[in-house]
Amino acid sequence: MPLPTHLLEQTAAERIAPLKVLDGDDRLLVHEIYTSIQGESTHAGKPCVFIRLTGCHLRCVYCDTEHAFKDGEKTTLEEVLSQVRAQQIPMVELTGGEPLLQKGAFKLLQNLCDEGYTVLLETSGATSIEKVDRRVKVILDVKTPGSGEVHRNLNKNIDLLWPGCELKFVLCDRADFEWACQWLEQHDIPDYIPVLFSPEAEQLPPVRLAEWITAQRLPVQFQVQLHKILWGDERRR
Ligand code: SF4
Repeated sequence: MPLPTHLLEQTAAERIAPLKVLDGDDRLLVHEIYTSIQGESTHAGKPCVFIRLTGCHLRCVYCDTEHAFKDGEKTTLEEVLSQVRAQQIPMVELTGGEPLLQKGAFKLLQNLCDEGYTVLLETSGATSIEKVDRRVKVILDVKTPGSGEVHRNLNKNIDLLWPGCELKFVLCDRADFEWACQWLEQHDIPDYIPVLFSPEAEQLPPVRLAEWITAQRLPVQFQVQLHKILWGDERRR
């Protein structure tokens, strides 16, 4: 289901209003912390602890985490770390919403790395990754025209990517696919950055995308939204 109109039409201020409760506070507004299977990266299939922070300034039409646009609990860094430790899983993903809207996210990522976790960060690509700890594996979305948010891509993020990072395109249709191919031709992406093409679950049959990739001999990695195959739209927590 596409996002409802009232969410798509929210002003920039309305979108980030839920974060006002932090008001300069170093704490994090946490929507949920839970363990599931990592579903959308080269790490797909591994058990992973998800820390989902509240709030996003984008409104991708296909967003399936609108529940994270609001509602969260102000939580200290130590409380978050303690909840993660209790899960006893070596991989952690910070996600949202857009987790980098909260200044406490950067310190949280650093602390998780210090504690020896494999740390993934799922980000929209619309917020700078410059201050992210270089031990973090950033899964950076490149928003396509079909998302409705293509104008929000921050090109400078592409130049900042380091080994361990990945680029992800969620494709809605053939026009998105052609746009993504052209984007890759125009950007000099180092070989050490995997490029992932994923079909948007409700608009593009996976087999179509697989056929297009193989027909064009594209050096990208096909993936499906594994958590949707496993649990549909049911929330895991
Ligand atoms: S960036 Fe992610 S959380 Fe934000 S609207 Fe887009 S899909 Fe949803």
